[in-house]
Amino acid sequence: MKVASVIVDVPTRQTDRPFDYLIPERWRGIIQPGMRVTVPFGARRLQGFVIGVKDHSEIKQLKPIEHVLDVVPVLNEELLDLGRYLTETTLCFAISAYQAMLPAAMRAKYEKLLRLTDERKREALPDDLKPLFANRVEVAWKDVETAGLWRAAQRAVQQGVLEAVYEVKEKAGKKTVKHVVLAVPAEQAKDALAALPARQKDVLSFLLEKEEAVPVAKLQAALGVSSAPLKALVGKGLIAMSDVEVYRDPYEHRTFQPSEPPTLTQAQTKALAAITASVRAREHRTFLLYGVTGSGKTEVYMQAIEEVLRQGKEAIVLVPEISLTPQMVERFKGRFGPKVAVLHSGLSVGEKYDEWRKIHRKEVQLVVGARSAVFAPFENLGMIIIDEEHETSYKQEEMPRYHARDVAIYRARRHRCPVVLGSATPSLETFARAVKGVYELLELPERIADRGMPDVHIVDMREELRSGNRSMFSRRLLDELRLRLERGEQAVLFLNRRGYSTFVMCRGCGYVICCPHCDISLTYHRAGERMKCHYCGYEEPLVPRCPSCGSEHIRFFGTGTQKVEEELVKLLPKARIIRMDVDTTGRKGAHEELLSRFAAKEADILLGTQMIAKGLDFPDVTLVGVLAADTMLHLPDFRAAEKTFQLLTQVSGRAGRHELPGEVVIQTYTPDHYSIELAARHDYRAFYRREMTLRKAHGYPPYYYLTLITVAHEEAPAAAKAAEKIAAYLRKQLSNEAVVLGPVASPIARLHDRYRYQCMIKYKREPNITAALKAVIVRYQADATHGGVAITVDTNPYMMM
Ligand code: ADP
Ligand code: ZN
Ligand code: ZN
Repeated sequence: MKVASVIVDVPTRQTDRPFDYLIPERWRGIIQPGMRVTVPFGARRLQGFVIGVKDHSEIKQLKPIEHVLDVVPVLNEELLDLGRYLTETTLCFAISAYQAMLPAAMRAKYEKLLRLTDERKREALPDDLKPLFANRVEVAWKDVETAGLWRAAQRAVQQGVLEAVYEVKEKAGKKTVKHVVLAVPAEQAKDALAALPARQKDVLSFLLEKEEAVPVAKLQAALGVSSAPLKALVGKGLIAMSDVEVYRDPYEHRTFQPSEPPTLTQAQTKALAAITASVRAREHRTFLLYGVTGSGKTEVYMQAIEEVLRQGKEAIVLVPEISLTPQMVERFKGRFGPKVAVLHSGLSVGEKYDEWRKIHRKEVQLVVGARSAVFAPFENLGMIIIDEEHETSYKQEEMPRYHARDVAIYRARRHRCPVVLGSATPSLETFARAVKGVYELLELPERIADRGMPDVHIVDMREELRSGNRSMFSRRLLDELRLRLERGEQAVLFLNRRGYSTFVMCRGCGYVICCPHCDISLTYHRAGERMKCHYCGYEEPLVPRCPSCGSEHIRFFGTGTQKVEEELVKLLPKARIIRMDVDTTGRKGAHEELLSRFAAKEADILLGTQMIAKGLDFPDVTLVGVLAADTMLHLPDFRAAEKTFQLLTQVSGRAGRHELPGEVVIQTYTPDHYSIELAARHDYRAFYRREMTLRKAHGYPPYYYLTLITVAHEEAPAAAKAAEKIAAYLRKQLSNEAVVLGPVASPIARLHDRYRYQCMIKYKREPNITAALKAVIVRYQADATHGGVAITVDTNPYMMM
């Protein structure tokens, strides 16, 4: 007997274990761990992952596996183990871990069908349903619903005439293109030529010349023929049509400038030597490549990758989604050409699937991608690079709540290869490890070619107001902008907001209009005069009067990119402006198009949100303006200062990266805050020391570990009560060294119509923690299913809301 252990596609605690299935005779020796299969599960048919094959099972009546979805395993042994590691460290369901490793196209889509239980029961069908089932044994659930026959169907199911079944469908097929090819040996085709009409003769000669399959469309275009001669030739058996699988190539119509590696600077050479030594020695190490913006980190990555490829190995480069800009892709494609696969959220489901298959089939040796690219199914990894390692987007905020850095280090240990973490503003966790010697610190202290760091001026906006300037532009920033226009240089303006204006406030009574479901302020959108919630998508029309006091002085507070643009147009009528935010970049390719227009100097000012903070590199940008540096400083998050420092440093780094020197103007209402002052002085180490002192004093990472437990329920008292119980339970289970805070209402107290309470655990050494957290999940799962309480446990939280 051969039995497969299968993790089924039902993400719940009760089903979070392997189930045994019989491997039918015909698939013995074919089914291997890491393959996807479909299995019966209750009334359903589900997709599942085979995680093991064995000879016995404790279960008497085993159901057989129904279908095998893969020819070769899609998860190798290493990735299967990685799944176990993820379930253990992030407390996720195994199915969630495995699905996170594969492109969305490979996740199952289920179609619900109603099927006749037995042909002899056809007569027993309610009359209404008979026409639908004429000549058929199954009908899609949705067709029954559309026909308004759902009740009749339900009764038929209860009577055992019909049964509900679930079919597994794969989402993205492989893309094929019709090709035409000779169906006979060349000699025979040549002999046939003479007897053919002119058009058919053309087609056949063309194919004889090509000696390979040709896309039908290409052949028709080249010869200017219709499909008639093709059909005729197929009829004569001289040619044949076939579907040839092709990749959807998102970069098909692009040519990339080939780039040669420049001679490295001394600091770069030293850093590269350390990394390549580790590659050659086949030993795992984690390096922190700490280098100011423009110090040549990317060049070091690329030359290290060359060494990896020379060794016949593969490399993964992770970059934050937001900096996976065309410029970045271009640099890697330019250097490594067809050896690179690119994975980012801008690709369609099908395109991502194709890029993944190139990796799986070992047709590429390098992948550049966002967070989930860390799961690229390479089997001979020589290096993993994480650029901008401090970026919080490396943490996934849904199950599995993994951090790409942890996964990278796990994989690199196994492959005995280095991990390179790069940043100009390393996360405190990483820098602390480098200081302790857990990671090896490599430094690039200077910008390439003696380019200095830009001069940064802090402007106190309170002063501006006191001296009568009510505009969102300080006099300093305006003067600098005018100067750039005169000199024909470019400027980047950064605003950490989106929409026309952020929130709608009554000047009469101070009332702020909030989402009725989420307790956060609604954002005004000028298109259609609407207010929208950015958490749940709720929207309503703009109100003319304050709902609280009736005043008409309800106005927009805060500033959005559109509003900045409008004011800018008034102040600098000659300036050509490109605005980049969610509204102008929603369309596919819009992002790329706007940037290339700015690069072509079709505009003087690039105005945008976070999305312009990173990765961009334009030679004529000599001014960067930050309109409101404080927007992030007051979030309820212990990393607010760190994030502000990082953001200001990144944004400033956009200025003066080439021959022309750069200047930065930071506008703020809190000019004395250390994160702003130290960012202006480019003093990362001083910031690190200052922030570490505070983290230590308040018991935050990297001195302490944190776990955040959030409890949500439609009724606030139920959520609060469950949270109380959990907190009390944890206080009993954990040592005195661990601190359990709360429960308190979450900063976002209501989300999707559920009230949210949270507890935070701070601890240093707590061997019991995983067991205690698992117990919480298992213990309160019963409550959860009965009372509708949802519990999420985040063992390394980045979103504190
Ligand atoms: P970072 O990734 O640290 O921001 P980059 O690798 O983008 O820095 O380098 C900044 C600029 O300097 C880029 O235009 C890059 O092509 C160039 N550059 C990097 N290293 C060298 C070098 N050794 N010689 C000349 N130019 C270099
Ligand atoms: Zn009011
Ligand atoms: Zn909402």
